Amino acid sequence: MACPLCGSEVEQQMRSYAIAYKHLETVVDLPGIFCKDPDCGEGMVEEQAWDFVAKVKAELKADYLGVMAPDHIREIRVNLNLSQRRAGLIFGGGPNAFQKYEAGKVTISKPMNNLLRLVSKYPELMRELHR
Ligand SMILES: [Zn+2]
Repeated sequence: MACPLCGSEVEQQMRSYAIAYKHLETVVDLPGIFCKDPDCGEGMVEEQAWDFVAKVKAELKADYLGVMAPDHIREIRVNLNLSQRRAGLIFGGGPNAFQKYEAGKVTISKPMNNLLRLVSKYPELMRELHR
């Protein structure tokens, strides 16, 4: 495979990228295909790596806002034995809310964050909500 810009050879590589949200920043290594000519610098990060970038960004945003990150939300829901759909119906937000929270597409609100914290610590509260 040749570089589409300069025709030099390309190679598979990991490159460091800084991901930021407000004042929070983290550096991640992303796989991609890059031109070997340092003067050219052309390159493309692998498609799936952008999902990872979106996930890291969602984590930074949650951290900044002081709410749970997507993985933590999923963990609590799974521990409560709820499907994403059921969780959205019980806690509010609608049938697709948890799918969006857990994919990092929507950051949970502070009230939802606090509700999840409470039911994860006191699962017996679920009996009230199931009514
Ligand atoms: Zn090139």
